[in-house]
Amino acid sequence: MSFAELGLCPELLRALADEGYEKPTPIQAQAIPVVVSGRDLLGAAQTGTGKTAAFTLPILNRLASQPRDAATTARAAPPKVLVLVPTRELAAQVGDSVRTYGRHLPAIKTAIIFGGVGINPQIDQLRRGVDVIVATPGRLLDHLQQRTVNLSGIQMLVLDEADRMLDMGFIRDIRRVIQALPAKRQNLLFSATFNPEIRGLAEGLLHDPASVDVAPRNTAAETVAQRVHPVDKGRKTALIAHLVKQGDWKQVLIFTRTKHGANRLAEQLVREGILSDAIHGNKSQNARTRALADFKAGKIRVLVATDIAARGIDIDQLPHVINHELPNVPEDYVHRIGRTGRAGAEGEAISLVSGDEKAFLKDIERLLRRSIPASPVPGYEPGSQPTAEERAAAASRPPAPPERERGERPRGGAPGGRGHSPAGARRPAAAAPGGNGAARHARPSRDGGNARPAGRSNGSQNQRPR
Ligand code: AMP
Repeated sequence: MSFAELGLCPELLRALADEGYEKPTPIQAQAIPVVVSGRDLLGAAQTGTGKTAAFTLPILNRLASQPRDAATTARAAPPKVLVLVPTRELAAQVGDSVRTYGRHLPAIKTAIIFGGVGINPQIDQLRRGVDVIVATPGRLLDHLQQRTVNLSGIQMLVLDEADRMLDMGFIRDIRRVIQALPAKRQNLLFSATFNPEIRGLAEGLLHDPASVDVAPRNTAAETVAQRVHPVDKGRKTALIAHLVKQGDWKQVLIFTRTKHGANRLAEQLVREGILSDAIHGNKSQNARTRALADFKAGKIRVLVATDIAARGIDIDQLPHVINHELPNVPEDYVHRIGRTGRAGAEGEAISLVSGDEKAFLKDIERLLRRSIPASPVPGYEPGSQPTAEERAAAASRPPAPPERERGERPRGGAPGGRGHSPAGARRPAAAAPGGNGAARHARPSRDGGNARPAGRSNGSQNQRPR
């Protein structure tokens, strides 16, 4: 099966050739003909399967086939396609994909609409006229309320990562946006997991949908090798540093359960000489975008993220994902490891599991319907003593501030879920001014040479209140 056989127009085929895509992924092969035929679609697919192109390509194909008369263009005709996504990052990525695949269709204009940035440039852009809107629900509602967007011409609606949008409490916003759309339209809904709430949303939204199910529901991408390393809670950071250095890993995404946990870990790894940064909801959009760009460009080796911040992160062939703690919601595990092994590339997902997390592991294995192989790393077995290197590193660190100064409580009340720092993983008291979740950001030196880990003095350089 080739893209040409899917009936895509020459401009799209050129863009796909530019991207080096040789053939459609399974979801693209299944979904594109359905969407081209005009039918509603229910897609069970996680990120990494090529689902963005699976809906973007047929959408662009349809827009390209619609005649444009000069008068309509001049009048700034209302947008025809609305893609709703859960996060700013995903909005930016999906918007980029629309622009990438549509690069030889310059008449098709796309607006990326999300909160946390100024609304006026978005208003100007919408006023000039766009064909496709990729938006997070909250900011789109702001525009609706201010009457700065007109959704009466929407022909196609896409709900991407619908399960995440519901997890994030967007259901009412989504329903209000849908009320502003014309009744007659094509609807596409994509979700990695399916619970009764998602099914309810899909039933109300979709009319006689075709179902496309590429990864079996609630199972992890086949190409991801999953491993559990049992380890004492206090030695997780040391183990991560060991794994990254031993394996000479260049691009590692690490998940923590809390924002402060993300900051702390990034800071500790920087002290170990591993260029790292953290992204989470307390960081400004600019800081998040920059951290992601640095990570993609290989300027930092480790990106530490919370679940929400990492949602939708799209990095080609991300080779290593580490769970510093297991998520207490098992579906989050599937999302996390979906960041690796993307579009057929091999990936490795490692979970560091301390004694108090065994129940979380059981829940995850129940969801996956299989057990994840567990092997202790020699020298880091539960109950073993810190290595000489860890002890030396611990001795050289200043003491940590009391836990309560950090101002954040763990989600879900996991027993001991704070990720207590061991003696060997302290951080300087000055590391998080204002308790604003400051992560130490190690940036390469100005001359572009080998960067030194950032020192204490610039611990908050990327912080800006949101
Ligand atoms: P997605 O599941 O949409 O997040 O896509 C995952 C990644 O796969 C993205 O980085 C795409 O650029 C890439 N991709 C999508 N379709 C193809 C394809 N047909 N061949 C190769 N790579 C692809």
